[in-house]
Amino acid sequence: MIPFVNLQAQRNAYRDEFLEAEARVLESGNYIGGKEIAELEEKLSEFTGAKNVITCASGTDALELALAALELRPGDEVIVPDFTFISPAECVARLGGIPRFADIDAKTFLISSENLEELITPKTVGIIAVHLFGQTAQMEAIEKIAKDHGLWVLGDAAQAFGAKRNEIHSVNYGDISITSFYPTKPLGAYGDGGAIFTKNSRLAEQVRKLANHGSVSRYFHEIPGKNSRLDAFQAAILKVKLKHFETELKMREKNFLAYNDFFETLEDIQIPSIDNGNTSTYAQYTLRSINRGQWLEKFDKANIPTCIYYPRTLSNQPCFENIIRGKKNARAARASHEVFSLPICAFTDVEAIIDSIKNCLA
Ligand SMILES: *Cc1c(COP(=O)(O)O)cnc(C)c1O
Repeated sequence: MIPFVNLQAQRNAYRDEFLEAEARVLESGNYIGGKEIAELEEKLSEFTGAKNVITCASGTDALELALAALELRPGDEVIVPDFTFISPAECVARLGGIPRFADIDAKTFLISSENLEELITPKTVGIIAVHLFGQTAQMEAIEKIAKDHGLWVLGDAAQAFGAKRNEIHSVNYGDISITSFYPTKPLGAYGDGGAIFTKNSRLAEQVRKLANHGSVSRYFHEIPGKNSRLDAFQAAILKVKLKHFETELKMREKNFLAYNDFFETLEDIQIPSIDNGNTSTYAQYTLRSINRGQWLEKFDKANIPTCIYYPRTLSNQPCFENIIRGKKNARAARASHEVFSLPICAFTDVEAIIDSIKNCLA
């Protein structure tokens, strides 16, 4: 069976570099903080041009730390997309905030700026824009709405680290951004990890403090914080992968174009759409069809793995049952019934996948 993300092939491709990096950390006696972390943060900053980069324990932690640094208070409302992974809405709720769910654009699946203003109330404090499936959300429009209403913007680039919009890195939009180094993300570690990006040095300082038990100098705690650290081993792995990242993004793009050439010939399938001015990390290759069930069966017969990102809208999750109000987000709901994704990592043999689908259709 083809793996959905081929981490084994990636390991084989850079094996010697991984072995060197792993031995370096394991023999160093230094497993938390230190040189590996400082170097990775510097390299992430060089790569993106972000002024401040702070690594932490996961993408979800990065969201929670960013929200805490933005001083989200119980009862505050935050606008989040209805169609995405749970983390953005979950982190708002964990801090006592109330997520308000925005509909998406039917073509790109990104949060739509169209009806955003209708969701703003006197309690609204910010907007979380998720750069879903690898491309940056329509940040000019979102930032304008935020500015008009005095809201902050938090960018979730867990799937879009490395993507640009009008030449600007996804993580440099908004007041603060996050990414995830979960193993199967475009830039993934060998365990959990995340990072926060911001040009605002005050927010950066606050995030660093919160992630380190509310402390800047040892055993002096200014605020209640938490332990959220990336470890040296993950940093060393990420440094290896970052060296090859641009090349991998090109391979992902090649896969994307090959898939598009094939799937655009099929009648009941809609291929993914990349917004004007955007590059993508192609975190997911997401098709949609009103005949999803039939397609999933065909792929299964051809031994091609599929995933559904995401089978339920967030406003339809039991955990948010008590806070839902207003009308249903029709485009998000429809997407959750029609989408399915295919393997697209740099080490996926897309030509072989297309051949097996062709055979299966013949
Ligand atoms: C994966 C993901 C996260 C969470 O990242 P973790 O590192 O798994 O905590 C947050 N937001 C989005 C959009 C994601 O895809």
